[in-house]
Amino acid sequence: MTKTELSKFKKILENKQDELERIVRNRDAITIEKSADALDEVQHAAERELAIRNLDRESNLLRNVRSALRRIEDGSFGTCLHCEEEISPKRLAAVPWAPFCIQCQEQADRNQEEGNELFEEILVNAA
Ligand SMILES: [Zn+2]
Repeated sequence: MTKTELSKFKKILENKQDELERIVRNRDAITIEKSADALDEVQHAAERELAIRNLDRESNLLRNVRSALRRIEDGSFGTCLHCEEEISPKRLAAVPWAPFCIQCQEQADRNQEEGNELFEEILVNAA
């Protein structure tokens, strides 16, 4: 990968990082609203759960973005964390923070459905 390409990815990733940090920082906005009305309470609980689920997704994404930025610094950006093959430029263009090549990502998704945490471990270790 050329320096120009790397700095382009760096810029994209930094912007994404800023955006996600803002979202995650609003975590405190999720407060437990007490309501006398039981129906209201159910509604609030559902909203809260959705907000927490979204936040989970944002937090994971933020972790991947930070980890990708670190890989730009140490020169390993664009290499799959699992098989160490190059991640295709097309995939990186679509998902600059992708930690895995497409084959490994598919395997990771399958593993996650089966409750196997191998790939999750790789991500945590890389973060
Ligand atoms: Zn791979």
